[in-house]
Amino acid sequence: MIDLHCHLDLYPDPHAIVAECVRRRLYVLSVTTVPSAFDGTAALVPAHGRIRTALGLHPELAAARARELPLFERLLPRTHYIGEVGLDGSREHRATLDTQRGVFQDVLRLCARAGGKVLSLHSRGATSLILDVLGAEPNAGTPVLHWYVGTPKQVARAAEMGCWFSVGPAMLASERGRAAALAMPKERVLPESDGPFGLVQGRAANPWDAWTVTAMLAALWCEQESEVASRMVENFKAVVEEG
Ligand code: MN
Repeated sequence: MIDLHCHLDLYPDPHAIVAECVRRRLYVLSVTTVPSAFDGTAALVPAHGRIRTALGLHPELAAARARELPLFERLLPRTHYIGEVGLDGSREHRATLDTQRGVFQDVLRLCARAGGKVLSLHSRGATSLILDVLGAEPNAGTPVLHWYVGTPKQVARAAEMGCWFSVGPAMLASERGRAAALAMPKERVLPESDGPFGLVQGRAANPWDAWTVTAMLAALWCEQESEVASRMVENFKAVVEEG
C-alpha cells in the first residue's frame, strides 16, 4: 500500500501512526510544511525504510516563513523528496500570492540546481498558475500535483507537461474532484491520504486510508479494483524510478 502525501508530524500521536505504517508495510511520502520541521519529522521514521520524508515550505506559510529559505537550501541535499510546496490562490491566502510565487520559484530553482527532485505540489485556487510557474523551470524534477482539481483542460495540460497526480478519498468526495480524476491519465495517478487534513467519513484520514481510493477510482473509471490497484503499484515504481 502507498500514501504519496501525508503529514505524519501533524497527527496527535505521530509515533503510533508511524508504528502502524511500519506494521502494514506502507510506502509513505511524509511531507512537511516548514523547513524547521524537517529534522524532527525525519526522526519519526526508521532510516532506510518505506517512509521517506519530504522537505517543504507550504504556500499557506510561505510568506510568514520565507526566512526559512536558507534552511531549505541547507537541508536540500538530505532528501530527494520535496513537499509540501506550491501556490494557494484561495480567498484566504490570495493576498500573499506574489510572495508565495517568489518562494516557490526559489524552491524550483534550487531543485533544478540540485539535479531535480520529486515534488509534492499544492495548487488550491492556482490550478493554472502553478502550471505556468512549473513550465518556467522544467528541470526542477518530477512534479506530483496533490489534490489537483483543475478543469479537464488543465489536467490535460499538466499531463502533457509530465505531471503526476496524487488523489485521495477526500478529493473524490467532491464533484469537481471526481471530474478532475476522470480526466487524468490512469498511468499517472497515485494514492494519497493528505492526513490528518484529508477526511474520510468525517474523521482524519490515516495513511492506510489512501489505498481506499483504488475502489473509488475503479467505480469512477469503470474498472476492476484489482486492475486499479496493480496499476497504482506500477505507477509508484515508475515515479520513483523517474524521480
Ligand atoms: Mn497536504
